[in-house]
Amino acid sequence: MKKLYINGEWCEGTAVTTTRSPSDLSDTVDEYASAGKDEAERAIAAAHAAAPAWGLAGVQQRADALDAIGTEILARKTELGALLAREEGKTLPEAIGEAARAGAIFKFFAQEALRVRGDKLASVRPNLDVDITREPVGVVGIIAPWNFPIAIPAWKIAPALAYGNTVVFKPADLVPGCGWALADIISRSGLPAGVFNLAMGPGRIVGEALTTDTRVNAVSFTGSTATGERVLMACAKRRAKVQLEMGGKNPLVVLADADLDVAVNAAIQGAFYSTGQRCTASSRLIVDESIYSRFIDAMTAKLATLKVGHALEQGIDIGPVVDSSQLEQDLSYIEIAKAEGARLAFGGERLKRATEGYFLNPALFVDCEPGMRHVREEIFGPVASVLPARGYEHALALANDTEYGLTAGICTTSLKHATHFKRNARAGMVMVNVPTAGVDYHVPFGGTKGSSYGSREQGSAAVEFFTTMKTAYTLA
Ligand code: NAP
Repeated sequence: MKKLYINGEWCEGTAVTTTRSPSDLSDTVDEYASAGKDEAERAIAAAHAAAPAWGLAGVQQRADALDAIGTEILARKTELGALLAREEGKTLPEAIGEAARAGAIFKFFAQEALRVRGDKLASVRPNLDVDITREPVGVVGIIAPWNFPIAIPAWKIAPALAYGNTVVFKPADLVPGCGWALADIISRSGLPAGVFNLAMGPGRIVGEALTTDTRVNAVSFTGSTATGERVLMACAKRRAKVQLEMGGKNPLVVLADADLDVAVNAAIQGAFYSTGQRCTASSRLIVDESIYSRFIDAMTAKLATLKVGHALEQGIDIGPVVDSSQLEQDLSYIEIAKAEGARLAFGGERLKRATEGYFLNPALFVDCEPGMRHVREEIFGPVASVLPARGYEHALALANDTEYGLTAGICTTSLKHATHFKRNARAGMVMVNVPTAGVDYHVPFGGTKGSSYGSREQGSAAVEFFTTMKTAYTLA
C-alpha cells in the first residue's frame, strides 16, 4: 500500500483507497492510504512548523531541490506517463507529454526561485529609503483535480516551494497514484521535513481541512465551479488567500475564410482529445453558415477515423472516460441534447472493447441553439455542440454568450478578424488557428468570469499568488 507523506515520513491513513484502470476494470492499479481528519491535521501542523525556516532558506537550496525534482521527472517521464494513462485514461503519448511538462515546470521554477525581485522607490520625504520585497505566504494548501493529475499539481507545488512556502498537497481521490508518484520524487529532493506533505483523501475531509484551518495561509484550487465556490466561501470567512481555476465551456469560432484542415484539426483536438476532459476543451463549435455543411462533413469523416480504446494501446486517439459517474453524466447530457432537438451527427454511444472500460464514442451535435443546456453547461466529456453563425459579429456574440471565460479560439485567415477577436473575446486565453486545449508551461494560465478567481497560475505570473509584498521605510 502506498502511504501518506507527512513531516518527512511515510505513514498510514485512516482508510484505504483502491483504484482501477478506467480502460480495464479488472486491472487494480494500487492501494493508497487515505487521510482522515487526524492525518490532515498532522500534515498542516508539519507544514506550519516548517514554514519559518523554509521561508528564510537561501534560494539556492530551493532551486537545487526543484531542479532535482524536475530532473527525476524528466528521466522517468515514460514510466510516469504509463501510470497516468493506466490510472486516469489519457492516451500514452498525451500522458508522457503531461509528465514531461511537469518536469519542465519544476526546472523552470528552479530558475525563477533565483529571480525574485524587489523594488526601491524614492520617498516623498527626505532621508527615507523605501524598499519593497516579496515574502512567502506561509503554508499553502494545494487541491488538485483528476484530469491533469501530474501537470496541475506541478504548476502549483513548484512555485509554492520556489518562493519559500510549505505545502500540503491533496490529489483528487480518483487519481492518488499520480499524486503519490510525484510526492515520492519530491521526497528524495533534499527538502527539510515538513516542507512538503502529501495528504491523499476525500475532498470533504482533507479538502475541507485545508480550506478551514487557520494555519493554512493560502489555498490554490483547481476543479469544478461548484467546489471552487465552496472553497472560496471557506477561505473568505477566515481571510485566507485563494486562487481558483474552475470550469469552462470554451468556444471555437470557424469563419468562412478559415483553412478547413486547420479548423477541423483544431476542433477535433480541442473538443475530443484527452476524452474532452479538459477545462480548456472547445466544446462549443461556432461555424459560419456558409461553410457549415462542409465543416460538419469534414468533422464526421475525421471522427470516423479516430480510434477509441485502452489508453495504453498503441495508436489510440481517445482513451476511456475517467469513471462511471463521469460516463453517466456524459450519457445523460447526450440524452438531454437529443431531447432539446439537437441533431446527433456522430457517435454518442458506449463502445465495447476487448477489456471492460468506460469507452464512449465522441459525440458531435449539430444544429444546436445557444439556449440549450448541453450548449451552456460544462459536460466534461467527449461531447461537442456545433452552432451556426451568420458572419463574424454573430459568431463573436455567440462565443461570448457564456458564464465561463477560460479559452476562446478562432480559425480565420483574416488578420482583421483575428485581431478583433483577440481584443474582444471575453476569455483569459485566446487561440488563433490553434486548438484551444494546448498551453505552454512557462506562460500565465487562467480565465475570466466563472472560470477563474484570483491571480494567474504558471510562468512569471505565479509569483503574485505565492508571495506577499512587504514595504519597509528606513530612516537614512
Ligand atoms: P472537483 O470535483 O471540484 O474536485 C476538485 C478537487 O476538489 C478534488 O481534489 C476534490 O477532492 C476536492 N474537493 C471536493 N470537495 C471539496 C471540498 N468540499 N472542499 C475542498 N476540496 C474539495 O473537480 P474534478 O472533478 O476533480 O475536476 C474536474 C473539474 O475541474 C472540471 O470542472 C474542470 O473544468 C475543472 N478544471 C479546471 C481547470 C482550470 O485550470 N480552469 C483545469 C482542470 C480542471 P475529491 O477528489 O476527493 O472529490
